[in-house]
Amino acid sequence: MTERVDVVVGTGGMGAATAWQLAKRGRSVAVLEQFEHLHRWGSSHGQTRIFRFAYRDPRYTELAQYSLPLWRELEADSGAVLLEQNG
Ligand SMILES: Cc1cc2nc3c(=O)[nH]c(=O)nc-3n(C[C@H](O)[C@H](O)[C@H](O)COP(=O)(O)OP(=O)(O)OC[C@H]3O[C@@H](n4cnc5c(N)ncnc54)[C@H](O)[C@@H]3O)c2cc1C
Repeated sequence: MTERVDVVVGTGGMGAATAWQLAKRGRSVAVLEQFEHLHRWGSSHGQTRIFRFAYRDPRYTELAQYSLPLWRELEADSGAVLLEQNG
């Protein structure tokens, strides 16, 4: 019998978030990354990011608004403080 596995390519911010959400929906997920964990060759390199709702394109604002409770959910799942809002 063959098991169905969803494959996510790349564990930058987008790939990691996709894999997390697929796994939360009960899917089997394999993530393929060409470099080592926390490598510096992608756009997600570094320890900090600015989180904002102000974008020229309202679709990005909607996505940021949609993501805020997901950040809180990820914090609850991981037990780590990930997003500090400072005003
Ligand atoms: C300097 C900088 C500062 C930024 N600051 C902010 C900020 O303050 N706030 C904000 O919201 N956004 C910011 N961004 C944008 C944001 O960080 C990126 O949009 C986001 O991290 C991109 O994530 P990603 O997963 O799409 O890409 P990446 O992080 O680049 O991840 C892609 C991954 O896929 C892997 N990969 C690619 N091809 C293959 C392959 N064929 N096989 C296996 N693995 C593969 C790569 O190795 C990489 O790990 C910043 C970006 C940069 C560059």
